[in-house]
Amino acid sequence: MNQPASEPARCSVPEARARILADIAPITTIETVPVMQAPGRVLAEPVYSAVPIPPFDAAAMDGYALAHASLAPAGESIVMPIGQALAGHPFAGMVTAGTCVRIATGAPLPAGADTVVMVEATRSIAQGVAIATGQRQGQHCRRRGEILAAGAPALAPGVRLGPVEIGLAASLGVTQLHVRRRPRVAVLSTGDELGAPSEAGGIRDSNRPALTVAITRMGGELIDLGVVADRRDQLERALRAVAGQVDVIVSSGGASVGEADHVRAVLDQLGRVRFWQVAMKPGKPLAFGHIGDAVFFALPGNPVAAWISFLQFVRPAMSRLTGLESSGDGPAWSLPCTAALGKQVGRTEFVPGRLLARSDTWWVQPAGRDVASLVTLAGADCLIELDPSRGEVMPGEHVAVRRFSDLDLVPSLTG
Ligand code: AMP
Ligand code: MG
Repeated sequence: MNQPASEPARCSVPEARARILADIAPITTIETVPVMQAPGRVLAEPVYSAVPIPPFDAAAMDGYALAHASLAPAGESIVMPIGQALAGHPFAGMVTAGTCVRIATGAPLPAGADTVVMVEATRSIAQGVAIATGQRQGQHCRRRGEILAAGAPALAPGVRLGPVEIGLAASLGVTQLHVRRRPRVAVLSTGDELGAPSEAGGIRDSNRPALTVAITRMGGELIDLGVVADRRDQLERALRAVAGQVDVIVSSGGASVGEADHVRAVLDQLGRVRFWQVAMKPGKPLAFGHIGDAVFFALPGNPVAAWISFLQFVRPAMSRLTGLESSGDGPAWSLPCTAALGKQVGRTEFVPGRLLARSDTWWVQPAGRDVASLVTLAGADCLIELDPSRGEVMPGEHVAVRRFSDLDLVPSLTG
């Protein structure tokens, strides 16, 4: 029997999560990468604008640039066009009293002009351009440095770099970005049954492929340890080999208390188990601990339980590790549930669901509770989260729902 030295207490989902996060410090190593290789990475240092944005006074509308003093206090005014300014092609002369310059959005405001009148407020007439009354001085102009002063921070550390951040950095003339090192994550599956499906009890591995994609998408650098047999010595060897080289180890299966479940014993031997069982369903048998500098997550074997445990615990841990300045998942949505759901008081229960638009309201439809295959999750786009205090759910009752799209599993463009 696997008899661990200590028996960590059973704890709730929020407790487990808080304890995990308290144990994890963001990676501090900084790498410098070319801007176009930075998508998916987490910014480690602020990006400053070397130049004011915009770099010159510019028109914010298509129309006419003029001096506001040229306009009559009331009624229509007539001004004389003397040239044009296009984006990239400034007007070289001076806008004097009673004149105007045809101007395009993004073109530099000519000298002497302080106001842009949009083309819709003008009429071309024989004597020049008639300007409607009611134009404000300074309108439709963008002032040099109005968006960003030279030297001002444009991007704060802790953001994950997506298309917009890359576009902004590139627009500032930045060619390299300082980002945090990607977490190195080892993934393994345990189980003698994993391999080809057979009538003798063989099944294919679902967890490692799913975890591989999720971890890569979260910016992790994956070390695939493959399938490890239900043998204590093999598990020990696999973990010892990788322990000093990774930030995180994620295993699935073998974390229960059966004869073939060695993860807990090996974890106790090589490192330290921080807790053992979480009051949740699915996913009760979960261990978190340390082996050397690496944190260890022993997820349950059942694919749905493994995935839900990953979302609840490994995902926030990865966010913390990557240095993301995130404020957690935010509040859940509260939606009526289409069907009754059995629920035991005293533990958190998770049910995969599907969002359903009925007339003008969103509902959530439970997608099934079988944990043995990812089929249940494949059609789902959200997770119903039932608190420990909650009992059975009746059809039409509101439940807390988290959309998978709200969770931080953004695609890392660098892969
Ligand atoms: P265990 O946690 O090892 O007791 O496994 C619980 C159930 O999950 C068993 O039916 C296993 O066959 C199944 N299982 C464990 N690991 C995997 C995996 N990687 N992919 C698919 N099923 C698994
Ligand atoms: Mg097993």
